[in-house]
Amino acid sequence: MPVDSCPLHSLDTGDISCSIREHVTHSLGKPCREASQRDVATALSLTLRDRLVDKMLETRDRYRESRAKRMYYLSIEYLLGRCLGNNIYNLKIQGEMGALLHGWGYELEDIREFERDPALGNGGLGRLAACFLDSLATLDMPGCGYGIHYEYGLFKQSIENDRQVERPDYWMAEGMPLQLERRDQSVIVPLYGRVENHQTPDGSYLPLWVDWQDLVGVPYDIPIAGFGGQTVNYLRLFAAHSTDSFNMEIFDQGDYIKAVHQKIYSELISKILYPNESISFGKELRLVQEYFLVFCSLRDITRRFLKQNRNIEELPEYTAIQLNDTHPALTVAELMRLLVDERRVPWDRAWNITTSTLAFTNHTLMPEALEMWSVELLEKVLPRHLQIIYEINRRFLDSIRQSGPVDDAKIRRMSLIDENHGKQVRMAHLAVVGSHSVNGVSKLHSELVKTVLFPDYAALWPGKFNNKTNGVTPRRWLYKANPGLAGLITEAIGETWITDLDELQKLVPLAEDAAFRERFAAVKRNAKVRLAGFVAKTTGIVISPDALYDMQAKRIHEYKRQLLNVMHVIHDYLRITEDGYLPPTPRVYVFAGKAAPGYFEAKEIIHLICRLARVINADKRASEHLKVVFAADYRVSLAEKLIPAADVSEQISTAGTEASGTGNMKFSLNGALTIGTLDGANIEIREAVGEENFYLFGLTTPEVERHLAEGSYDPWEYYRKHPEIRRVLDSISAGRFSPDEPTAFHWIFEKLLAKNERYLHLADFMSYIEAHERIGMEYARPDVWMRKAVLNTARMGYFSSDRTIREYAKDIWGIKPIPPRGA
Ligand SMILES: *Cc1c(COP(=O)(O)O)cnc(C)c1O
Repeated sequence: MPVDSCPLHSLDTGDISCSIREHVTHSLGKPCREASQRDVATALSLTLRDRLVDKMLETRDRYRESRAKRMYYLSIEYLLGRCLGNNIYNLKIQGEMGALLHGWGYELEDIREFERDPALGNGGLGRLAACFLDSLATLDMPGCGYGIHYEYGLFKQSIENDRQVERPDYWMAEGMPLQLERRDQSVIVPLYGRVENHQTPDGSYLPLWVDWQDLVGVPYDIPIAGFGGQTVNYLRLFAAHSTDSFNMEIFDQGDYIKAVHQKIYSELISKILYPNESISFGKELRLVQEYFLVFCSLRDITRRFLKQNRNIEELPEYTAIQLNDTHPALTVAELMRLLVDERRVPWDRAWNITTSTLAFTNHTLMPEALEMWSVELLEKVLPRHLQIIYEINRRFLDSIRQSGPVDDAKIRRMSLIDENHGKQVRMAHLAVVGSHSVNGVSKLHSELVKTVLFPDYAALWPGKFNNKTNGVTPRRWLYKANPGLAGLITEAIGETWITDLDELQKLVPLAEDAAFRERFAAVKRNAKVRLAGFVAKTTGIVISPDALYDMQAKRIHEYKRQLLNVMHVIHDYLRITEDGYLPPTPRVYVFAGKAAPGYFEAKEIIHLICRLARVINADKRASEHLKVVFAADYRVSLAEKLIPAADVSEQISTAGTEASGTGNMKFSLNGALTIGTLDGANIEIREAVGEENFYLFGLTTPEVERHLAEGSYDPWEYYRKHPEIRRVLDSISAGRFSPDEPTAFHWIFEKLLAKNERYLHLADFMSYIEAHERIGMEYARPDVWMRKAVLNTARMGYFSSDRTIREYAKDIWGIKPIPPRGA
């Protein structure tokens, strides 16, 4: 088509105003006078999409011309959060848009509420992927994401009769105006079938994968705008559809119903996100999802690569692929299959290409999260891939045997195949063997990856293992989520901090400035007033902005120890009501988080919190001092409401269990003080903000490890020795918070006192309440407290995901910024 000089869309307010009206009329088919707020929201999203697409195409050309190396991030989850507000802020037009909409009688904030929060992830892992995309685009780096276009995201949580109720999240119900469907780039995905063994004319082995079934992966692109909007990358999500050809085949055999079932099965693949975090499923559908992601992504990546007239052997020079945990670990086998079977690259060279291209991030040490797939299932779904995995394993184990004497135990430990409970493929091992880099996500975690998870591999390949401490994007988590604080900071030190978070250091001297501290305190109070309004509206609970807001917002999981927090709340409550104790500061305890639907303990913890809230909030003796709130449906948009209003951030996992945490970073960046254990990134946060500005408690990782290894943890000893512990546990066991069902929470009593209680709640309880004691006293002295709060914000620069991405780019990916000319 002739390339004409149609003007590109501009960010000029007049132009945007025309486009919005144009979209109301021509995309939504309504006269402007009949447009609802939702229509305005949709038209505004479409208007911004037009502009982002222009920039996305420009960015694509720029990358092509530079022939730059690219990075592809493969992740089974992305927890993007709402896009409209983020795009407006990243395009820096929030002022203009606010004024334009206000002139039409709307508020930008209300308009933004119409967007569904796409929850295509469970928690930390998916949110990290989203922060990384923001940083890549902001740094002008050629890096894009690949994932699955789930029809249903993470379930919506509501609380009914004090219990979690799950409802499906059909996030596209109102359409997803930002995405671009790319049917022309669909991918046909083969699976099932069997392998036939043939030979080439020269006698070498030629496997043929035959009788496979297929489905289609249809890509949807979501533009990802960097700050300033000059670079726009994309997130490409694949939806599964059925192929017509396959259905017709069965149909022709006269089995219409089977053909329809086949279609339904195909579309099931991207139907829903598995709602579990840190647990492996062993379900066929999940395996197919993982393979679907891997196959579609690799097809797309190699197609784009070969289009540039390159030889497949040059792949690692121009391409880096990061595996976000083991969910995409099949990439190792699929890339080998693609090279060896389809492109006839000899095995050794193919192996070199594969390992030089791939890198792997481990996200957890929890044994139940380590993915294994039974050989039987792999044989059924991916027969050729299983063969390839066996061949990788055979060559790998041979190479170890050849390099010196090894005992059988070590071979069994290092094998890709676990034979302890039937034959299973260890996906983490496959990813480690098939990658040139293996990283953990905080200093402590990366050490544990080497010493606990993969000691044999770390001894074999010491240079392969490295650390990349997580970060969060300051655009979403400060600039957009907390405009009050962002404004105060910009006024004090200019706005360079938005893309160079180390600039926050300039706030350090201001911590000594009483006037600045007061303004900082006023910003925090404003955020608390807003949250109090939201809490009143959504729960009916009235909370005072003058109380200390203590928050634990994250997935509900035993290792995260919400129960420790609950025990302390009960302790506080009983001291007030039974001992006549007057706390130095009133407190509001806010809990938020979803429990996986099949996770009994987690769901019961929510039940207990809600029951506790009911009892405490109704008790006149406590109401001046203590409130408990469970904020339902924790998701990115709720996190953005909670975090700016937090005074205290609860990061209290058992040492050695939380790989990094990123919630801890968001809170601290927004001026909350952490009460935390020496776990994950807490350790680095504490070093950064200063130990006097962090409330530390609890056992260290070596102490926890020793207890677990020696079986020396004796919860009854703590129960007998400490009346505080006794009183709290007895009150739970006696049904004090569930008078109509006295035994409802007895299991908690039993669990916390069981000899094999893995998370050592009682061992840490006394030091936890002692740390809370200090918090209560120091909060009552606003000067002392606000100084610490300012220093937390000022010293969090290191935890920008821009820093994390720069490290990945330099140490692992070998990619560089490709800024627009003249920038
Ligand atoms: C940041 C974030 C998480 C991760 O929180 P952790 O405290 O690190 O577990 C989970 N869910 C949402 C919605 C988040 O924004």
